[in-house]
Amino acid sequence: MTGSIASVADADVKELVETLNFAQKVERSVNLIEQACREFGDRLVVANSLGKDSCAVWHLAKRVSLKIRGFIVTTRFKPAETRQFMAEEVRRHPELRVFSSEEEIADKLYATDPDQCCEILKVRPARQAVKEMNVACWVTGLRCTEGRTRTDFKEVEERDEGLIKLNPILTWYEREVWQYLALNRVPVNPLYAKGYRSLGCWPCTKITQGVDERAGRWVGTSKCGGECGIHTRPLLGEQQ
Ligand code: SF4
Repeated sequence: MTGSIASVADADVKELVETLNFAQKVERSVNLIEQACREFGDRLVVANSLGKDSCAVWHLAKRVSLKIRGFIVTTRFKPAETRQFMAEEVRRHPELRVFSSEEEIADKLYATDPDQCCEILKVRPARQAVKEMNVACWVTGLRCTEGRTRTDFKEVEERDEGLIKLNPILTWYEREVWQYLALNRVPVNPLYAKGYRSLGCWPCTKITQGVDERAGRWVGTSKCGGECGIHTRPLLGEQQ
């Protein structure tokens, strides 16, 4: 892969999902991160949600450079297992910074207005991370096979002008993520052993079966299987 990272923005994602094998996908992901790292230097930062996809991306990034920094957005509603796993990850990687909001919110806002709850507890701290860490390119664990809201993302996007978003494992299947984590013995959140497939705050995450990997998120609300807003709301230039 040569040239600017933006040159891969038009890649046919669906074709890549279906035609590349596991090893080719891993190679492509490493190349994407390497190329972005060359282009953005220490302004390339990984958004680490502590889910399995983020664990894979974080591991891939560390293969490229041990110096790559990351940020975690956490909330008061994260399960105890996630808080424990976060503490272990930050101990292992002090270059991971943790952001959260202490703002007062209405009781059970997650039930009455989950969009507003996510905006305050997740999106605003993510904006703060982008600003404080002087991020020019953020790297995510988004995958286009993950659920109904994730089918039309690109490997390289610029939803906010001046802020590139790199989705280096966009083309990976869920099985390929687990394959990568197992082959590289990457530690994961113990909640997966209990049957969760997609992790979030405890009031908004259930164990589910079925095709849609994110079906257990925001069950019973209009956001069911959807997004917290970090991937859909502006992260630059919006009033907090
Ligand atoms: S996932 Fe639920 S509890 Fe967490 S910030 Fe969003 S609405 Fe609130």
